[in-house]
Amino acid sequence: MRNFLKIFALFFLFILIACGGKKEEQAATDKPEMTGTPSDAFVVEVTGNDQMQFNVKTIEVPAGKKIRVNFKHVGQMPKETMGHNFIILKQDVDIAAFAARAMNAKETDYIPPADEQNIIAHTKLLGGGESTSIEFDAPPAGTYKFMCSFPGHYVMMQGDFIVK
Ligand code: ZN
Repeated sequence: MRNFLKIFALFFLFILIACGGKKEEQAATDKPEMTGTPSDAFVVEVTGNDQMQFNVKTIEVPAGKKIRVNFKHVGQMPKETMGHNFIILKQDVDIAAFAARAMNAKETDYIPPADEQNIIAHTKLLGGGESTSIEFDAPPAGTYKFMCSFPGHYVMMQGDFIVK
C-alpha cells in the first residue's frame, strides 16, 4: 500500500511537471503571434511546386487593405534549377518583355534592378522547402498580373491578381 502511494505521488508529480512545462512552451510559441504583424492584413497563401505551378490562377483581394502574401515552395528541387518567386507587375508592364529582361538578372534573383519601378510587390527567390512573406498596400482596384520570373517559368507560372 505504501509503495502504491509512493508511485501515485511520483506519478502525480510527473504530471504536474509535464503540465507546467507544456504551459511554458505554449506561452513561448504564442508570443511571436501577439507581437507580430498587424492582424488586419488580408492574407493570401501562395505555393509553387516542382512541376512549375502556382497553387492559384486567380487571386482576389479587397482594395484599400494591407495585403500579406505567404509564399512557400512546396517542392524539393533547389532554387538553382527550380527557383520560384512571386511578383505582381504594374498594369502597363508587358509580362513577356519583363520575363525576357528578368532572365539576365540572375545576380538579383531574376528581379532586374531597372524594373523595380514596374513591380508592385515581389518576394525573394525560393528553393524547395523554403517560405517567405511579404506585406504591401493593395494597389488601386483593377486586374494585375502575378508571375514567377525564373527563366522560362512565367509561361506556366502566372495569373491574375484582382483588386476589388
Ligand atoms: Zn518559378
